Amino acid sequence: MREDPHVCRRCALAGPTCCQLSAGQEEFCFPLSVLEKDRIRDHLPDLGGFASAPNSASFVDGLSRLFPDERREVKALFPAGKEHLRLAVDAHGACRFLSPGGCLVPREARPYYCRLFPFWITGERITLFETPFCLAQQEHPKVGDLLAVLGLTTTQVASLHGSLRLAWGLPPRPGMDAVKKGF
Ligand code: SF4
Ligand code: SF4
Repeated sequence: MREDPHVCRRCALAGPTCCQLSAGQEEFCFPLSVLEKDRIRDHLPDLGGFASAPNSASFVDGLSRLFPDERREVKALFPAGKEHLRLAVDAHGACRFLSPGGCLVPREARPYYCRLFPFWITGERITLFETPFCLAQQEHPKVGDLLAVLGLTTTQVASLHGSLRLAWGLPPRPGMDAVKKGF
């Protein structure tokens, strides 16, 4: 299986992508760390691409499901009554960094979850966010094939997930020694 450098562009031509939220799903948008925001700002002028959102019960619950063994830590990191940072979206739910030609942010400066999608780490395994719109996933439902098509390795996914954990404030997991604190 070879990398398909055009699959995300084909996906965008076919319909909504991982860069666009469905109406009413804004509350479940992943948080963005200050580090990730600053890195985007280093690469792009201020396009107004960031927003603050409340740590609502639904938001925290959704995030906790991603870290089922660390629900207490997630709640402590995103306390009720406070706010978190996230990417801003337009009236159609599209990320403000999304242009007709794709993401304006260079790949290495994109938020970790953008670079990880549709992969996640559950326990020791690479798992998938199952979505009806991910063309790459529709065409290549097996994790190994999908990794190759999206140009990622298992090591890179583990490293990105580890960096995301640190950026969000979660502690390193055992075996995460390879993740550099400086991201
Ligand atoms: S930053 Fe780029 S990759 Fe991430 S959601 Fe926005 S447009 Fe998509
Ligand atoms: S990762 Fe999947 S959902 Fe996101 S743009 Fe690529 S094919 Fe579409």
